[in-house]
Amino acid sequence: MSKQEYIDQSEEHIYKTYNRFPVVFDHGEGVHLYDTDGTEYLDFTAGIAVMGLGYHDKEYDNALKSQVDKLIHTSNLFYNVPVVEAGERLLKVSQMDKVFFTNSGTEAIEGALKIARRYAYNKDNSHDHEIIAMNHSFHGRSLGALSVTGNNKYQEPFRPLIPGIKFADFNDLESVKTLVNDKTCAIIMETIQGEGGIYPATEEFLKGVRALCDEYDMLLILDEIQCGMGRTGDMFAWQKYGVKPDVMTAAKALGNGVPIGAFLASGKAATAMAPGDHGTTYGGNPFVTAAAAKVLEIFENRDIVNHVNEVGDYLWEKVEELVKKYPVITGHRGVGLIQGLEFSVPVAPVAEKAILEEKLIIISAGTNVIRLVPPLVIEKEHVDDMVVKLEAVLKTLK
Ligand SMILES: *Cc1c(COP(=O)(O)O)cnc(C)c1O
Repeated sequence: MSKQEYIDQSEEHIYKTYNRFPVVFDHGEGVHLYDTDGTEYLDFTAGIAVMGLGYHDKEYDNALKSQVDKLIHTSNLFYNVPVVEAGERLLKVSQMDKVFFTNSGTEAIEGALKIARRYAYNKDNSHDHEIIAMNHSFHGRSLGALSVTGNNKYQEPFRPLIPGIKFADFNDLESVKTLVNDKTCAIIMETIQGEGGIYPATEEFLKGVRALCDEYDMLLILDEIQCGMGRTGDMFAWQKYGVKPDVMTAAKALGNGVPIGAFLASGKAATAMAPGDHGTTYGGNPFVTAAAAKVLEIFENRDIVNHVNEVGDYLWEKVEELVKKYPVITGHRGVGLIQGLEFSVPVAPVAEKAILEEKLIIISAGTNVIRLVPPLVIEKEHVDDMVVKLEAVLKTLK
């Protein structure tokens, strides 16, 4: 089939909830993707912060292949071998006490919200608990996660959502304090807002929210689905702040492309739910946990986090040069390999030009921000390549 035939058939068959770029990818190697015509693309999106180890990593691929030959699924009615290693490794790097493996990020959020509800219910058996979430947040598309996603465009057609959710302003502690009452059972936020435009929490805000949660016995839920797994130069973004959550979520880069997420709990939150309270048919099956276990092993053996620090600093310097040169870029935020460039104009045409003309894959985060979330294994030379390609687009904007 020709490229256009694939696109036409896809449009005919696949439920249209996305406007896609007219590109059909065939395979990947390292930090590059190749379309069905063999054209090479430099990938600074990594399947939306998923392909931390890049494409076709031999060690990772071989681990998956050998697990396929052994066992793919058994259900959670039994124990399995890979989940033990994945769990042990994930708890070690996250410093949490318990983990539940899910199939996606949004399901990890569902589990986190259920812990919060359960924890509060265990105390007073009542059903009117509230959760505070943030404006401009993103936590996923299932109804619970959507209910705490502070974006009216995503929520509006699907109301009524779950009750008892209030929205505060990110990085504005006073706005959180005014919403707290004796029914509030949790505060949920991303440590770095991703889809909302790459806004890191300030240290003052995160510490303030932690203190508030301690004072009122509320759970702090940190969504690390996008900013976690080494992307900030720490294994999880909260570790840079020294503020530990009661519950946290991970997904995206955890499986390097295999669908797996997790919610993790520490301390009092780790025992809130009991057998029968939550379940999943696929979650934590041998295939996906073999992938996650191998990802975590590679992270340790190759010191991916340290690499992110080095190349992330280099990316920061190079982007700063662009900021100085092109007034259309009005802001630069982030850390490590999650960086956002704010523009004075909508960035959809910037991304489109970069992808279709320069063969550089970049995506937006909101209307005016270009988000750079490349594979964590990029080298400085790839940063240089990216700058050349991005500059070619920027020149057309002047
Ligand atoms: C992507 C994302 C989610 C949702 O994950 P899915 O796997 O798409 O369900 C939730 N929270 C954050 C911060 C994300 O970036």
